[in-house]
Amino acid sequence: MQLENLLNDRAKELKQGGIRAFFDKGIGIEDLVNLGIGEPDFHTPRPIVDEAYKHLLNGKTHYSANAGDIGTREAVAGFLTRYGLSYDPKTEIIMTPGGMGALSLALLCLLAPGDEVLIQDPQWLNYNSQVKFCGGTPVPVPVYEEDAFALKVEELEKAVTAKTKILMVNSPNNPTGAVIPKEQLQAIADFAVKHDLLVISDEVYSELLYDGNTHCSIASFPGMKERTLVINSFSKPFAMTGWRLGYTAGPQVIIKKMTVLQENVSACASMPAQAVAKFTLETLTGLAEMKEQYEKRRILMWEGLNQIDGISCIKPVGAFYLFPNISSFGLSSEEFALRLMQEGKVTTIPGSAFGAHGEGYLRVSYANTVENLEKALERIAAFVKKLG
Ligand code: PLP
Repeated sequence: MQLENLLNDRAKELKQGGIRAFFDKGIGIEDLVNLGIGEPDFHTPRPIVDEAYKHLLNGKTHYSANAGDIGTREAVAGFLTRYGLSYDPKTEIIMTPGGMGALSLALLCLLAPGDEVLIQDPQWLNYNSQVKFCGGTPVPVPVYEEDAFALKVEELEKAVTAKTKILMVNSPNNPTGAVIPKEQLQAIADFAVKHDLLVISDEVYSELLYDGNTHCSIASFPGMKERTLVINSFSKPFAMTGWRLGYTAGPQVIIKKMTVLQENVSACASMPAQAVAKFTLETLTGLAEMKEQYEKRRILMWEGLNQIDGISCIKPVGAFYLFPNISSFGLSSEEFALRLMQEGKVTTIPGSAFGAHGEGYLRVSYANTVENLEKALERIAAFVKKLG
């Protein structure tokens, strides 16, 4: 039997993402400083772990309702009020295995062949493969360094067609660290209303904004709640990537279908993770301390990279990424990142892995220790010097 032939076309089309593929090229290289990873370097704060232990001993080890434990959904609804959002926990919120679980349930419920989805370029890769897997067509919308990589209506207007169904918004952004300013976000909301689009607003970095900036959800503008799915997660703000807990808040009709789909896919999000949600969201345990560290590291890396001849980098407002411009070296971002890894012993991700408009840039994560970041800066400077 030809096992390959058992795979359906959708599975055959699935390709490993560029980040993983790039990490694979570093296997066997010793003493690498890894600035390629897109997750907090911190472990989950101890009080959250202690809280989980307590709940595990008390039997929070069973399935929850498909939409999630009601106490957990109430805690999420309470948390979302800080962004001026008001949701009914019984009908408008679903807990999911991470933000990724939320994205895939939503796209599976919404997309039909031919539907187009506007996705900024460069953008975290998984949107594209998820959209394709669900039968939709990703349509790239460029963002530019001169606009601080923030998505603009002018570019959206060029890309929208009669087939456009969904607009993806991700602010703060992975890979650029950009945050869409409030007035610009309002204009994007008006654009969504004008073209009758559903917005999927991926807000997984909503708690990681710097320089006194605060998060604004596109769902908070008048008329947007009914056409927006807000996706968020415990992964990034609370260093809980491995717990796999995220959620979606949005219109009842869509949440209801996502819930039935979840019944058939994973039954529910992890119950031990849901059990700590209330405590975590109400106390925001560890968040301020971790944010303070990211803030310091962001400045260290931003200043350090700009001091290296040939590299220029705008100051990102959120998340934990920088997106330095390395185009002056005349190498593709893939070549640059590969040689930096092999010869300079620093792993970064080539900007082109995030879309054609990421060419000429690198994604540099500062979710790493100050010691490692300083070592990386020295190594990048030495590598660049050798390039001449
Ligand atoms: N959305 C963005 C923009 C991300 O960068 C990530 C993870 O890197 C996710 C969603 C998914 O995170 P999780 O599934 O851990 O919540």
